[in-house]
Amino acid sequence: MRLGRFLGIDLVLHWTFGLAPLYFLLVGLSDRQTLGQIAWMELVLAMVFLFVGLHEYGHALTARWFGIGTKEIILTPIGGVALLKSLPEDPSKEILIAFAGPAVNVVLAGMLFGGLSLANVFGWNLGLQMSQFLQTLILVNLLLFAFNLIPSFPMDGGRIFRATLAYFMPYERATGIAVSVAKVFAIAFIIYGLINFDFGIAFIGLFVFAASSAEWNRLLHVRRQHSQMHSQSDWRSGEQPTERLGAVVEGHVKATRLEITENSNQHE
Ligand SMILES: [Zn+2]
Repeated sequence: MRLGRFLGIDLVLHWTFGLAPLYFLLVGLSDRQTLGQIAWMELVLAMVFLFVGLHEYGHALTARWFGIGTKEIILTPIGGVALLKSLPEDPSKEILIAFAGPAVNVVLAGMLFGGLSLANVFGWNLGLQMSQFLQTLILVNLLLFAFNLIPSFPMDGGRIFRATLAYFMPYERATGIAVSVAKVFAIAFIIYGLINFDFGIAFIGLFVFAASSAEWNRLLHVRRQHSQMHSQSDWRSGEQPTERLGAVVEGHVKATRLEITENSNQHE
């Protein structure tokens, strides 16, 4: 479902998004919570998605600063994704784009904390509920910051880690190491989750495992496109030069287009 276009980028709600409020409603009803308690949970949930959305805009607007467009921002129950049209070649740009999301959450936490402190200093009575609400929102932003900086794909920390390695070694090798580290984290999440019967964490582990494998496959796919492009120009070498040029240009355009779709950078 398309929510609208903000700052020139389409904001889309994935259909599964409706499952999150439904889940809290069902849990609330089965725990015999009051309507007020359920409304409270739903309000916190809405704020979490607002913060995730702003986080994604942090990525998208930093990417735009470097001339990279964003196809759309998608919000799902387990997080947001900013679909960038390409990836920057320069590792320092990738680091800045990846860091911009968590940075938004730090700024939000700081602003909320500032508001709460000002209220204390001036002796404004926010009421217990309101100050608890603000404290929860600060905590949410700090968690979003810390969780996304775990050096593991598909979290932003994984991209920062890969880009940092890319300063010292070829991009592919950096990705290979970053993917291996992500899998170690994923397996640790799964084991921890199963031992403690925390299936949410085990699920995140599975998700991280799948996403890091996908990152590796994406890289292999892009590499294959490149080699196909080269073999295509060799293959046509017997033809007239103008035709050959046309084929090579077309092959290149095709490969570039494929690469752009393949490169749709997913930011958690
Ligand atoms: Zn992010």
